[in-house]
Amino acid sequence: DSPLIIVGAGHGGYQAAASLRQAGFAERIYLINDEAHLPYQRPPLSKAYIKGSAGPESLMFRPEKFYQDQKIELVAGRAVSIDRAGRKLLLASGEMLPFGHLVLATGARNRLLDLPNANLPDVKYLRILDESEALRTIIPSKKRAVIIGAGFIGLEFAATARIKGLEVDVLELAPRVMARAVTAEVSDYFQARHREAGIRIHLGVQATSIEAEGGKVTGVSLSDGRHLPADLVVVGVGVLPNIELAAEAGLPVAAGIIVDEYLSTSDPNISAIGDCALFASPRFGGSLRLESVQNATDHARCLAARLTGDRKPYDGHPWFWSDQGDDKLQIAGLTTGYDRVVLRGDPAKKAFSAFCYHGDRLLGIESINRAGDHMFGRRLQGMDRSITPAQAADESFDLKSALA
Ligand code: FAD
Repeated sequence: DSPLIIVGAGHGGYQAAASLRQAGFAERIYLINDEAHLPYQRPPLSKAYIKGSAGPESLMFRPEKFYQDQKIELVAGRAVSIDRAGRKLLLASGEMLPFGHLVLATGARNRLLDLPNANLPDVKYLRILDESEALRTIIPSKKRAVIIGAGFIGLEFAATARIKGLEVDVLELAPRVMARAVTAEVSDYFQARHREAGIRIHLGVQATSIEAEGGKVTGVSLSDGRHLPADLVVVGVGVLPNIELAAEAGLPVAAGIIVDEYLSTSDPNISAIGDCALFASPRFGGSLRLESVQNATDHARCLAARLTGDRKPYDGHPWFWSDQGDDKLQIAGLTTGYDRVVLRGDPAKKAFSAFCYHGDRLLGIESINRAGDHMFGRRLQGMDRSITPAQAADESFDLKSALA
């Protein structure tokens, strides 16, 4: 009897448990969950959940009965240390659980803003359901939000807050929004769209202080000397992978928990998946840490296959999406390292794709309101094929012919 323990019941942890059972894994499975909810989907937290009125149960992957039926033991609690020699996991409650295999699916946590007043109740973050719920609850009593960081989550929340009737300012240190993740063409499009919606975007600036009176936020000061009034500050300045549990157990870590192409740490009894894992990627060369639902769930499936006898290196094809207001951004592939961008479609018509090339090699496609291009990109990658930049730019070129 050698139970499998999964630490973290987010996208990766949940999927690992479900896929293991699907693949016939017969040992006990413990899923350690430090959030006071059944495992749930994170993406709606900055989108539909805040906009709507549906309760937390609308986010759950599965009802409680699923875990009972599948004999997946949900353990409420937090893992605090790993005894590798004794193959035991210590929980904050003091309970010690023996394991045959341990899966670290600990995800990431918000990077905190290091400014005075950043711990006031009107300064919010957005990673977990409780934070989304808290924002949804206070939005009706707020008038002016300053959002620090124009990454995916900052912009998704900005669009949502604007729809909810708030005045919205977004601060971004980089010269364009989502600069680390998308092409300038896509940044430009979203900047224009958010501005049309009445959101003020301030680029190349930093928040230098948060002002408050009597414990209530009154505004944010900027590095260029300006001051923006605010009664709500939402911080979206990125995340830090939860690597401490691994590091304290002596497992190699860097910008994530280091795993090989099989998602195994240096200890063959311990694996890591999802946002917390820095994985060796034969496909892309070197190692990668990605923050996406695709990455977490495909890691989980690959790991479940290995633990049930089907050992293959992880070779998932990255894809991602972000909903901002009425626009849907979808990304197929990894677009970092491109030296050439070819547009298909027309930004003025609110539907286009940016095909990103390195030389003549297609790295990925960023699509805005062009789901067909996105699905094409994913299928093309699955077949390890490409199309030329000239074909991408030519709307009369039939994409389907490249898949035949
Ligand atoms: P998580 O889902 O973060 O789960 C990790 C879990 O482990 C958490 O519950 C954490 O509390 C728990 N944990 C950590 N340490 C311990 C411990 N010691 N003991 C017990 N439990 C522990 N991705 C997309 O592809 N598209 C989107 O549109 C999108 N939107 C997003 C919107 C928001 C607001 C956020 C926050 C993320 C979004 N993402 C999106 C990213 C996506 O949700 C993550 O990449 C994904 O959840 C990663 O899964 P994971 O299992 O690695 O980590």
